[in-house]
Amino acid sequence: MNTQSSPPVSLTVAKFGGTSVADFSAMDRCADIVLADPSVRVVVVSASSGVTNLLVALSAGIADSTQRLALLGQIAEIQYRILDALGRPAEVAASLDLLLTEMDKHSAALALQSNDARRVDALLSLGEQCSSLLFAELLRQRGEPARSRDAREVMRTDHHHGRATPQVAELAQLAQGLWGPVLNEERTVTQGFIGADAEGNTTTLGRGGSDYSAALLAEALGADNLAIWTDVDGIYSCDPRLVSAARPIPELSFDEAAEMATFGAKVLHPATILPAVRSGCAVFVGCSREPEKGGTWIRSRAQLAPVFRAIALRRNQTLLTVHSLNMLHAQGFLAELFAILARHRISVDLITTSEVSVALTLDSTGSDSSGRELLTEALLEELRQMCRVEVETGLSLVAVIGNRIANTAGIGKRVFEVLEDHNIRMICQGASPHNLCFLVGAEEVDSVVQQLHGRLLEG
Ligand code: ADP
Ligand code: ASP
Ligand code: MG
Repeated sequence: MNTQSSPPVSLTVAKFGGTSVADFSAMDRCADIVLADPSVRVVVVSASSGVTNLLVALSAGIADSTQRLALLGQIAEIQYRILDALGRPAEVAASLDLLLTEMDKHSAALALQSNDARRVDALLSLGEQCSSLLFAELLRQRGEPARSRDAREVMRTDHHHGRATPQVAELAQLAQGLWGPVLNEERTVTQGFIGADAEGNTTTLGRGGSDYSAALLAEALGADNLAIWTDVDGIYSCDPRLVSAARPIPELSFDEAAEMATFGAKVLHPATILPAVRSGCAVFVGCSREPEKGGTWIRSRAQLAPVFRAIALRRNQTLLTVHSLNMLHAQGFLAELFAILARHRISVDLITTSEVSVALTLDSTGSDSSGRELLTEALLEELRQMCRVEVETGLSLVAVIGNRIANTAGIGKRVFEVLEDHNIRMICQGASPHNLCFLVGAEEVDSVVQQLHGRLLEG
């Protein structure tokens, strides 16, 4: 990013999360950030805080019309407050009314038939459509040429509603062709989280997907920097809401940041780092309320590479254990198991095996936009055809993240000393030099993380 006036010498894609665009004054602070940096040509916004949760509630199909209208009323209030602060310009008001009418139409239809995945995505996409419309107007009112552009023009995905996979090559072609030529004329404000399949149906990338959208657009447009503006001044050594002694990390490598995002540091959607690694785009994470505090820079290599960098945790983990005597000295059992999971679009992360059983964790983070269960009865039934299946819930995954973890003597001792009194349900270490992971009961995880942070990262 640079602080020069025009012409921009580099390209930055800036993403503002839900709390950053929660209301007019929050949006106004985001406008300060955008206007201070001429390299920010593309702005990706989330829905205003709370709006996606309300849309998810509506997407479940609310039959009671009083209740349904009350939820719609809450969304309208959030959006109209911002519109009022903008002086209710007629054209923007008319566009916003159209979006709110769409919400009403889709939520009414879903009340009658809630399993229409295509309609669910159409409904969920409306939060980002509202916030981008309002933010572009705010920039214009601050004297900056800006236009709200529909992300669905360029964010081509497959047709898997609720957790669509971006089609990177088509996205690059569309973004360069349609948006590339106008980047220097006006700031493009667009929606995170949403895309469209080849037939033009609206899709979504899964909860928290706006970070991923911004990273994909940065890659597609060959941006130099991706700035993720949120409600914390960087990536901390642990979630600061859980560990008050956690500290912001000034610089992280792509590898470390990818591990943190994957293992639950909610500040980045798990897939965000991937496009940045592919394109070599540097990523900045900072706080839109206090941009002067600085934040975290993520680059291919960080100057420091400490053994212990951070601790991440992921709640609501499911442990799936499959047992089968057919595994004994057999070939192809795991291949068959993973083929079934892949068919059901389950991404497996941790695995341990014994001679006759395999235990694996399933993650719901960054899952389906509507929050629907990943482990369906259909999947379990298919697995039961080949093995005995056990499902355990109420678990949390803790990841100790750093460097050379697999090659440094004494790591296990330091970590497991803290865990002496706890029942560790599963341990994974060795595949990556950057993490050591284990599962513990949900009721003990907060204290486990606090103690580990104290022992490994404080003092
Ligand atoms: P946004 O709406 O801007 O996308 P999120 O709520 O998705 O913001 O992510 C920001 C939150 O991530 C923070 O408020 C913080 O509680 C949480 N978080 C979890 N782990 C970390 C971490 N290691 N560093 C910073 N924030 C973290
Ligand atoms: N609005 C979406 C959500 O709340 C996407 C995002 O904010 O990243 O999940
Ligand atoms: Mg987020």
